[in-house]
Order: sequence, then structure tokens, then C-alpha cells
Amino acid sequence: SQLANQIAAGEVVERPASVVKELLENSIDAKATKIVVTIVDGGTSSIRVSDNGLGMDREDAVLAFSRHATSKIRYSRDLFAIRSLGFRGEALPSIASVAEVSLTTSATSGLAIRVQMAGGDLVNISECSRGQGTDVHVDRLFYNTPARLKYLKMVTTEVSHVADVVGRMALAHPAISFTLLHNKKELFRTPGDGKLLHVMHALYGKQVARQLTPIEAEDLDFRIYGLIAKPEVTRASRSYITWILNGRFVRSLPLTQTLLRAYDTLLPIGRYPIAALHLEMDPKLVDVNVHPSKLEIRLSKEKECCRLVQDVIRQAFAKETL
Ligand code: ADP
Ligand code: MG
Repeated sequence: SQLANQIAAGEVVERPASVVKELLENSIDAKATKIVVTIVDGGTSSIRVSDNGLGMDREDAVLAFSRHATSKIRYSRDLFAIRSLGFRGEALPSIASVAEVSLTTSATSGLAIRVQMAGGDLVNISECSRGQGTDVHVDRLFYNTPARLKYLKMVTTEVSHVADVVGRMALAHPAISFTLLHNKKELFRTPGDGKLLHVMHALYGKQVARQLTPIEAEDLDFRIYGLIAKPEVTRASRSYITWILNGRFVRSLPLTQTLLRAYDTLLPIGRYPIAALHLEMDPKLVDVNVHPSKLEIRLSKEKECCRLVQDVIRQAFAKETL
């Protein structure tokens, strides 16, 4: 029902950045290699995510807006099983219940189908033409839920949240090209050539990219690899530290604290390093035990994992000074 969708939307859709995150996940699930995100006024007026993924046929395009219409096979042992269960097939109907949504998709290239929704109601279905892939337009977010609308922050704040989401997705998926445009200005574009270094270059600039050190290590349970900035290159916030667990962006205070401790005295007070670190492990070692959309995780062998992180970073800097 409409109400159920709006209640679900309360969980999934907090602000433009949460819409972008859900749409990006769908594009990635559809095996897109190129994704363009275009927002107007921080996403409050309009959000558009365009991909070159598998697309949908007519039937699936219409079904995509009914609850629990997910086409995805879920594995219960999946790291994000809890998250998937919670939001299974709910993102599109939830978003459509609090905005004007138009979905244009083609599974074959050429003939495309367009489904338009407003406030959860089907407005129109039409045919048009498009290459293989999917476009989702989300206009006037929260137009019918004034209480939510009121909580939207200044445009610059919403833009930085969107940039954060797209940036971290790009760090998690170096083989996919991500472009972010705001009010017709390109904020960044990653090449999608599989190289983490090139993603960081696109996001943080040439100066930072030049100062990155690759790290790599593994033990019985964990593998870690990625790029960390030399201690001379710091930022005033922790938001340049990204953890990617089995291909998904996550938050973990213990891991971040371990990273900071490994830099130790090398960091000036109030300054933080830049790092993008991928961790791989058996999904059984991960517990997604807090609010699913926050992506906070708990590791069952946390101490061991933190030790590996600390060792590999200390070693990287020890080599530097030789
Ligand atoms: P979920 O992702 O949990 O399956 P969603 O509401 O996010 O649920 O999406 C519903 C369905 O719509 C998906 O299962 C998928 O089949 C289809 N879909 C959504 N976005 C895309 C896309 N960009 N490309 C192809 N299919 C999509
Ligand atoms: Mg989804």
C-alpha cells in the first residue's frame, strides 16, 4: 500500500544521497560499467542516474515499482544478508512514494519503455528509444511529505553527501566509471579502468595521487590491500578514510582508530590521513548488527584484523624511511 511504501521510505530515503545510493546499487547489480549521476540543487530538485547495465523488459519495468518485486537471488550467507532482507525490493517503490519518478529502460538497445510514477501512483507508460541500460529520474523529492522536506539541509550540504556516496561507490568499484554532475558542472569522473589509484586521482586530485603508498598483506582470515597517503598529506576530517569490506563500503570505528594509531606521532593534532582500504574475508566473520543503512559493522575477529592493519601500515612507512 501507499502508506507502507511511505513508511518504508522513511527507513530507506532520508535525503538525496540515500536515493543516489539505492539507485547506484541497482545499477551495479545490473552489471553497469558506466554510471552517470546528475543532480540539480543538491538533488532536491532532481536526481538522475543513468547506466549502461542490463536494463529491464516491459514487464519488469512496471513490476519494479511494486513492493518486493525484486528480481535478485539473495544468498542468506551473503555478508549483507540482513540489509538485503530489510530492503528487499523496497527501494524503488519507496522512492516513488515520496517523489516524481520516471524510469526509462531498455534490455535490448533500441526499443525502450518509460514508466512514470508520482507519489506512488502510476502516471504513464510509454515507448521510446534508448541504448541498453536504465535511466531513473527522481524529481521533487519529498514534495508530498512536507515534514521530510523540512529536514533537507542547504544545497551545499546535500551535494557533499551525494559526492560522498558516489565517491565511496567509485572507490569500492574501480572497474566501473562514475561521473557526478551538479548543476551542469562535472564534479568528478572516474575512468573505470580497474585501478584504485585512478579513482583516488579523480576524487582527490593529482597532488594526493602522487603521495599514495600501496599496501598489501594477508593472514589466515583476512586480506587487505589499498592505498594510503604519506603522513605529510593530511586532511582536517576523517571522511577521506574509506573501508571497503568484500566490495562494499562500510564504517568501522575500531578499524579507523587502528589506522590512526598506526600513523601515530606522524599525524599533527586534528589532522587525518587519506586512505582507501579493501578488506576481504569470509562473510561469516562479519556482523551487520546496527542500523542496516548506516553500514556499521562488527568483526568477530576484530583484534586479529586490527593487528594486520596496524602491521601493514607501520611496515609501509618503515620502508619509506629506508
Ligand atoms: P532490489 O534492488 O532490492 O531488488 P529495488 O526496488 O531497488 O529492489 O529494485 C527493484 C527491481 O528493479 C530490481 O530487483 C531490478 O530487477 C530492477 N531494477 C532496478 N534498477 C535497475 C537498473 N538500474 N537496471 C536494471 N534493473 C533494475
Ligand atoms: Mg535496490
